[in-house]
Amino acid sequence: MTRPSALSVTLLLLLLTSVLQVQALVMHPEEHPEDGLPDIPTANQTFAVNQPGMITILPSQVQYSFEESTSALQIFNNEVFMNWQTPQTPSLSFGNSHEQVWVRLRFFNPQPTRQTWLLEVRWNNLYRVDFYQAFRANSESSYSHQVTDVAHYQAGVSVPPEQLFMNNSTILFPVVIDAQSHGDVLLQVQSSHLLFAPLYLWPEEDFNRYQLSNLAFYVLALGMIMALFFYNVAVTLFTRDRSYFFYCCYMASVLLYLLAVTGIGHYMIWGGHDWWSRHAYDIGINACFLFATLFVRYFLDLRQHSHFWLNTNDLFVMVWSLNLLLLLVGFDFSARIVDLLALVSLLASLVMTATLIRRRIIAATYFMVAWITLIVTTFISLISLKGYLPYTTLTQYSVIVGFVTESILLAVALAARINEDRTKRDSALEQAYQLQIEIGEKREAALNAQARMLEIEQTAKRELELKVSERTRELQQLTRSLEQANRELANLSVTDALTGVANRRYFDLHMERELQRARRNNNRLALVLVDIDHFKQVNDTWGHPVGDICLRWIANQLSRLCQRSSDCIARYGGEEFALIFPDANLQSIHEHVDRLRADISGTPLQHEGLEIRMSISAGIAISPLRQTVSVDVITCQADTALYTAKNSGRNQVVMFRMDEDLGNLA
Ligand code: GH3
Ligand code: MG
Ligand code: MG
Repeated sequence: MTRPSALSVTLLLLLLTSVLQVQALVMHPEEHPEDGLPDIPTANQTFAVNQPGMITILPSQVQYSFEESTSALQIFNNEVFMNWQTPQTPSLSFGNSHEQVWVRLRFFNPQPTRQTWLLEVRWNNLYRVDFYQAFRANSESSYSHQVTDVAHYQAGVSVPPEQLFMNNSTILFPVVIDAQSHGDVLLQVQSSHLLFAPLYLWPEEDFNRYQLSNLAFYVLALGMIMALFFYNVAVTLFTRDRSYFFYCCYMASVLLYLLAVTGIGHYMIWGGHDWWSRHAYDIGINACFLFATLFVRYFLDLRQHSHFWLNTNDLFVMVWSLNLLLLLVGFDFSARIVDLLALVSLLASLVMTATLIRRRIIAATYFMVAWITLIVTTFISLISLKGYLPYTTLTQYSVIVGFVTESILLAVALAARINEDRTKRDSALEQAYQLQIEIGEKREAALNAQARMLEIEQTAKRELELKVSERTRELQQLTRSLEQANRELANLSVTDALTGVANRRYFDLHMERELQRARRNNNRLALVLVDIDHFKQVNDTWGHPVGDICLRWIANQLSRLCQRSSDCIARYGGEEFALIFPDANLQSIHEHVDRLRADISGTPLQHEGLEIRMSISAGIAISPLRQTVSVDVITCQADTALYTAKNSGRNQVVMFRMDEDLGNLA
């Protein structure tokens, strides 16, 4: 069956149920007294109990009356007007517009022995059921005989378990009939909502067997619900998911409902508490719908998916909460509208689920399957309770089966949703992981770029440093060369280029310095001026270049006189030389100079086969001790001495003497 057709069938069923429900509320059940119906049950209404096993008592085999009478004895003896009717419904349902109904039955025991049967009223939610069996004076038990004794038993949620005829979770009464006799039974059934009393007659042994399998079924159903409840409590604690929380509440409500509807709750748990016994069933159903509504809200995440259905859900939550509240404060009408509210709720959630499925919300599909199960079973149960369907094992258990199946399906749906969430989470994790990898790659690329930049920077720095050091080296070399050049320049500035001895400039500076030093140290300084004799002739004879060579040779010879580091020779000008001897010994100076003069004049210069004879004249001046004398004066004195030597015939050394010189000078 495709989804739309399943949906339309369910909707149709719901619509039908709603109509029936409303009709059941507004109309009284069949109240057409049948003409000619006698006060005494007819022959086919008196059923002979002669078959083995359970006997289902059919609606046509009983009579009922809504008349209010308090005395069973008076009814048995026809002392009150009762207006007996035969139900026209397929099950023994008397609607919910009356609070009590009288039902009468007549049994016949064809056996040759006295028989005891059990009469079961298979609907545990009756407020109170009073069972009466008539005993007549005459054992022939004809209706004409007066009833003298009445056996009375009671059951229902208002009766504590210890007051029951038999320890049992279902409503049960003993029917004892003598051999070949009739037995008349009256039941007064009271209910706060539905008057429903399906009747079964049992041989005791068969009932015990049935009861065992019945209990096994109940235990199985309750066990499953309890298992689901505890499992989901654990899941709620771990996941803190609201849908699980409300699913647990729903499971607890289903458990309450099942305990009430099976009679196990009243018989085994809350039998001593009158108020609870009377309200457990209604509270159970109400809570079921309230929590199912809340569960739907979070399970289908209505807040996110639909504002309209969220508001509708709000409305239902309010209605169910209010109804539950009214039930708790003892407002009986609430119990009567539970069925109608349940149907409207089911219908609404079905339409809502269908809408959400159309929007491709997967959770809604799971929910739909679970919900349809409950709707179908509730529907079957309701129409059988209302008497539109025979009340059979199938219809009797359908709601229990529905609730258990729905609970399991919802658990599956929740599990599927966990799976869906996990898949979403996994894919989110995968995405996050991919993103992380991407970020990692980008970061690595950035780091690589940074490393490359650093490398480039370092290489550049190294190159720069190399260049700088190269430049520095070059600069240092340059500086050194410059210093060397400077030194050479300085040297050149004080050196005579031709002869290589100091020049006149150096002589002037040196003479001044040495003269001062000699005075400070109280020494005598000797100045010797040397002039080559007739040098013009040398030039004229051998040429200027040879003259130069001669000049160099004479300078070289004179240099031999400078033996101490402080001694100095300089070219004074042309072919004249000056020699400075600080701290001089007069005698020794004169001797040295004169010896050199003699050497020069005695040794000709050999040059390229030439033999050049030369001589020199020298004038010596000595600075006085403890007297200041200028360079000019002492130079003049040496020059005077030289002049004297020239004038005296050349090739000689003359010492300047103050007295004679002064005279000479003069
Ligand atoms: P006296 O004995 O009187 O000193 O005679 P003299 O010829 O040496 O003197 P005079 O002053 O007349 O001549 C000096 C000569 O020295 C003239 C000049 O040509 C020469 N002379 C000066 N300087 C240089 C030089 O650098 N090279 C050469 N070859 N000759 C020079
Ligand atoms: Mg000269
Ligand atoms: Mg000369």
